Amino acid sequence: MRYISTRSGSYSMPSHQAVIQGLCPDGGLFVPEDLNIRIDLDALKDASYQEIAEVVIGAFFPDYTQEEIRQCVYGAYDSKFDDAEIVPVTPFSNGAIMELWHGPTSAFKDLALTILPHLLTTAYAKEQRDDTVAILTATSGDTGKAALSGFADVPHTHITVFYPVNGVSDIQKRQMNTSRGANVNVVAVEGNFDDCQRMVKTACADATVKAACNGVTISSANSINIGRLVPQIVYYFSTYLKLVRDGQIKDREPVTFVVPTGNFGDIFAGYLAAKAGLPVKNLIVASNDNNVLTDFIRTGTYDRNRPFHETISPSMDILISSNLERLLYFASNGDTAMVASLMKKLSETGTYTVSQELLHTIQSSFKAYWCDQDACRKAIADLYEREQILIDPHTAVAVSALEQYRAEGNQEYAVVLSTASPYKFARDVLACISTDQPEDAFAAMRLLKERTGLSIPQGLTELESLPVRFQTVIAEADGISFIAREMKELSK
Ligand SMILES: *Cc1c(COP(=O)(O)O)cnc(C)c1O
Repeated sequence: MRYISTRSGSYSMPSHQAVIQGLCPDGGLFVPEDLNIRIDLDALKDASYQEIAEVVIGAFFPDYTQEEIRQCVYGAYDSKFDDAEIVPVTPFSNGAIMELWHGPTSAFKDLALTILPHLLTTAYAKEQRDDTVAILTATSGDTGKAALSGFADVPHTHITVFYPVNGVSDIQKRQMNTSRGANVNVVAVEGNFDDCQRMVKTACADATVKAACNGVTISSANSINIGRLVPQIVYYFSTYLKLVRDGQIKDREPVTFVVPTGNFGDIFAGYLAAKAGLPVKNLIVASNDNNVLTDFIRTGTYDRNRPFHETISPSMDILISSNLERLLYFASNGDTAMVASLMKKLSETGTYTVSQELLHTIQSSFKAYWCDQDACRKAIADLYEREQILIDPHTAVAVSALEQYRAEGNQEYAVVLSTASPYKFARDVLACISTDQPEDAFAAMRLLKERTGLSIPQGLTELESLPVRFQTVIAEADGISFIAREMKELSK
């Protein structure tokens, strides 16, 4: 199986080369050429997270040997995670909560970014290349730290993370600016996440940047890289199989997954899981006030020309959801010309409308809801009061979406993807369940622990005492020249 571009059907290459490339040279995203993959659920009934990961990732990346995949999987999913199950699942009154935040940086990005460096360095070894891979990554908060942690001191790699200067939480900023590693750099950009993402995508195709690269290949750790997307398919399977094992659902019973969504990567992995045989009823896109996806899935018109809201769920403050392009590709049966023309319209006018036929295909798998910040806060307070379950603001958006979906009479078993530890957003979460006035985010963490008894993840406790290493702030307009300079320094 090979990977091709969403925009032209060209650039056909095996998965490990697509992992190296990140983004297609025509601006498109890599997608598997066909989706004939079937994961045998029976064979995985009693499998561990790592065993499921071997099978699922191996199926999507067949040019890696079994042994290579095994090394990657066991290198990633080990004691870096503070729960032996890697992704534990907690039943609650409305279904189950899939806890994706037990990794080193306390957000779901760890599931992909602990394994991406292994997949990438293995790919380089397969190609017998010894150039430096320069990873450029835009972040709305969580990808940045997870990528910095995953790539720190990995040989032959260098990583630069760009984050919106006012668009991440105190804790997220501190996590990034205290990162360890001789090969890492962290840069604040005067702009929002979309500006950062556009800057990185533009840099990948920019002539001055290319000219500055000598023995350096630029790649990306954003969810545009299939090396991130594919590992995210695993937890849909592991959770489903666990629910069957625990008697929460019957074998082959279709379930609905509710996903707090920004760049459409996490939920798109659920779509690929369904395509590979997982019994999925619906995939619910949950958005915050930046509800561009809710409108798109309900009306067929994508329109980013609207106010950008900075919310308490910053990792979803996104108006251009990159991975949606992959859905357009599959839902149109691989109509690359159409995808290319919609993406051109998006970049020129900020909006596009799909055909009614395509909209109906999308609506047959996806539903969409959004909630504002008051509803988000209420979801946190209610769930804590009712069931003593503490969730972060991103997860709360999904819990609210599920309540709206239930109110329309939908009864099937549902799983909420919990994407971050509540401690990452301690101030906002604390304010939902108490009237305490903490001095700063660390005081908020301690108060939250006193009140709830929930332990603070190790990686967050130590932050307070780590030195701040990075303080660079740049204007968006200087991004390309900044990147060109950095590539020149990395060059041989
Ligand atoms: C990145 C992130 C999301 C959004 O995931 P996408 O794959 O971008 O849709 C949601 N919640 C948290 C906490 C995140 O870090």
